[in-house]
Amino acid sequence: MIKKLAKISVWLLFTITFLSEFMIIVVELHPTEKFAKSGTINAFFWSSLLMIEIIMAGLVVYYFIKHPPRRFRLATLSICHFLAILALPLIFHDWSWAGILYPWPHTLQAFDPSTPKIVLWLSLTIGFIVIPMLTIKWGVNGFCGHVCPHGAFFSETYGRLFKAHPKRLRNIGRYFPAVYFALMAIGLIGILVIPSSVEQIRNIQKMTFFSTAELFYFVIGIPLIGGRSYCTLMCPLGFMIRQIVKIRNKILRNRRDVG
Ligand code: SF4
Repeated sequence: MIKKLAKISVWLLFTITFLSEFMIIVVELHPTEKFAKSGTINAFFWSSLLMIEIIMAGLVVYYFIKHPPRRFRLATLSICHFLAILALPLIFHDWSWAGILYPWPHTLQAFDPSTPKIVLWLSLTIGFIVIPMLTIKWGVNGFCGHVCPHGAFFSETYGRLFKAHPKRLRNIGRYFPAVYFALMAIGLIGILVIPSSVEQIRNIQKMTFFSTAELFYFVIGIPLIGGRSYCTLMCPLGFMIRQIVKIRNKILRNRRDVG
């Protein structure tokens, strides 16, 4: 009974947090709204997010003690998650630092005009060099197993509270990630070719990320499908990683055949 109540409370916290984020996005898209000047929604959202982070830290400690085989994975994921989501943004007073471990094609956050150049270059290096290299070396288990501060981290913490039903909505996973990846590629090309379009492209991308990686994942996906629901059904970065694995395996097979 206590476990069930705790689960529902955490789910409610995620739900109200991301509904408040939805209001912030609406305000940002329509800055003439009356409550745009009010910091109340912002304060509520960031406080709830901090509360979520504290609860996730508690779950990390709990699973670290309870499940020794998962300790290494939990340790690397916690370092990456808390570094990207809390430590770096707090140290530099700038949320854009989170974009380092949320690179393209996961988000286009690094391309915001206000993002420091160092964050842009680190994010590009991680997205275009480090992740492909980790994937070539360790396959899906590299970034998606031990680094990703989003799907990998939350599947090992919040996701462990719920039973997985991986067959639910499986058809969505056949097409959606490829379409999403293609749209992110178009977004990236759009920004590179017409830099002045960045704000419009980012508005669309923010809304898409919010609907899929946040509202769907935390409010519906994890409770009804499981911790990896966003990874298997939607994530464009996961799609890219799986394609790299396929190409790597094909090259290895060809080499073996020739040998
Ligand atoms: S599929 Fe996407 S969200 Fe899931 S672990 Fe991989 S990169 Fe992260």
